[in-house]
Amino acid sequence: MSTRFSFDNSYARLPARFYIRQAPIAVAAPRLVFFNAPLAEALGLEAAALAGAEGAAIFAGNLVPDGAEPLAMAYAGHQFGGFSPRLGDGRALLLGEVIGRDGQRRDIHLKGSGRTLFSRGGDGRAVLGPMLREAIISEAMAALAVAMTGEAVLREKPQPGAVLTRVAASHIRVGSFQYFAAQEDQEALKLLADFAIARHDPTAATADNPYLALLSGVIARQAKLIAQWLHIGFIHGVMNTDNMTISGETIDYGPCAFMDAYDPATVLSSIDHGGRYAYANQPRMAQWNLARLAEALLPLLAEQEEAALELAQAALGAFAPAFEAAYFDGFARKIGIAQRMPEDTALIEDLLRRMAEQGTDFTLTFRALADAASGDAGAARAQFTDPAAFDSWAEGWRARLAQEADPARLMRASNPAFIPRNHLVEAAIRAAEDRDDFRPFEALMAVLARPFEDQPDRAQYANPPKPEERVLATFCGT
Ligand code: AMP
Ligand code: MG
Repeated sequence: MSTRFSFDNSYARLPARFYIRQAPIAVAAPRLVFFNAPLAEALGLEAAALAGAEGAAIFAGNLVPDGAEPLAMAYAGHQFGGFSPRLGDGRALLLGEVIGRDGQRRDIHLKGSGRTLFSRGGDGRAVLGPMLREAIISEAMAALAVAMTGEAVLREKPQPGAVLTRVAASHIRVGSFQYFAAQEDQEALKLLADFAIARHDPTAATADNPYLALLSGVIARQAKLIAQWLHIGFIHGVMNTDNMTISGETIDYGPCAFMDAYDPATVLSSIDHGGRYAYANQPRMAQWNLARLAEALLPLLAEQEEAALELAQAALGAFAPAFEAAYFDGFARKIGIAQRMPEDTALIEDLLRRMAEQGTDFTLTFRALADAASGDAGAARAQFTDPAAFDSWAEGWRARLAQEADPARLMRASNPAFIPRNHLVEAAIRAAEDRDDFRPFEALMAVLARPFEDQPDRAQYANPPKPEERVLATFCGT
């Protein structure tokens, strides 16, 4: 058995000003508490070998595997609207890139691996609870939507902190471009854009304007991603530009959470005081972030600034229609409509309005629709304090479903039964942190691996919190 990674490091070939090379800082007592064996296998790694002591040493940062070239990536970012020209990996390191069995290149990234030159006042470490949260949410996101990340894989609990190993198609962010734009380093900007094109938009390389094609590619991916977040009630919580990827994957979960009762204004992050990143604000904030990306790319879009601005504006103009189409297409599937027709939008909006008015549980309401379509509306009606509000909507809905081939099946595949509900995540974290008991965490992960299957013996995991179990704020633990 071997713990060998076949690294093929392309980011480390970029010029020195893109990163700071540094090894992870060793910890006292490596101990592996979660290991995603199927993901390891998909990456071409030997899962059985990595699940042992050598894996613990690697994922704690005590042993740098052969071929790794650990480095802290440089980036900037707008955090809650304010610009920081120099953030960078303050507690994370890119170990290297591996090409998986599917031919896809992915970053292997440690988080909580010790101080770097980007740490500023921080200690470079992460604590167990938030790293467990990231692992739980990642499992849910990976299982819920294929376009999203397979992040958060292998984790490790030294005393008293934790290191999370995360996997993503890359960790290039909007803030990576902002970093060089702020320094007016156009050579680096171009190198980074070419790198991103090679990695995420290979067809853009042959477009008339490759950098415009890159920008449009990111806009399209983010529009789709944010729509998918809304379909499952996900609230990222820290949509700063340094946490928004070029690949279109979800990273840096921090105080992220899933909404229980449907309320578009829901904010769960303890650090989001103004509600900037509330559930329903996410598309608007994504567009704001993408405008920052467009700004950074301006010098590459055209020689004349005015022409560049026009191109950027046209590209950004594509976000809202792309988002809306993805948003309504997804909600159409959630109510059993495979091909959305224009008039279906009103049907969707009407249901969402009624759900918001009555604060119905977002996940359970949609999950109950499959049964309601086949005549058993009990569970769906029970979500509404006034079941007549459901009945009067369902009349028009059933009439529409008569034109659909297999709506119940579509709904069961589009509406998860299980999401990582805050109170369950909190309970799993508490047991692990306070009592070194990882059973609740493991049980939750097992349920979340199959979110679309009814798991009758795990029915309690589908329930919303009782009033006394409600978690009103989530913490990012930086
Ligand atoms: P985040 O809010 O996690 O996206 O982090 C924003 C910036 O703060 C990034 O540059 C991080 O690397 C850095 N940072 C967050 N937590 C720590 C920490 N404990 N030590 C050092 N840097 C940190
Ligand atoms: Mg971040």
